[in-house]
Amino acid sequence: MTAEDQLATIRRASNIRSYGVIKSIMGSGIIDSLPLRVRCECALSTCEEIIEVSLHQRRELRRNYPRGFIVIQSHADLSQDMPLYKADTFAVVEKPQFTEKVTDL
Ligand SMILES: [Zn+2]
Repeated sequence: MTAEDQLATIRRASNIRSYGVIKSIMGSGIIDSLPLRVRCECALSTCEEIIEVSLHQRRELRRNYPRGFIVIQSHADLSQDMPLYKADTFAVVEKPQFTEKVTDL
């Protein structure tokens, strides 16, 4: 496992932590259509990309692909990442070296 791979898991963990903060602030008043910004969960050390997904959409993605990483399409490393889902601007990929499942809001 490379340091870059590690970066992807750090970014994903940080996205999930920030959702926890949102949830604790909004409580039961949480709005599904809320547009959210997700840090690209790729392994590129120079990446600063932000992906816009709604809260509802993100919850579905995590539920359907608990091992997935949400990345800008061009940031997927197709030599090793397995594409699971494609949207207009982003994709969800699975990295075979990471088997950990994550849960979201
Ligand atoms: Zn990226």
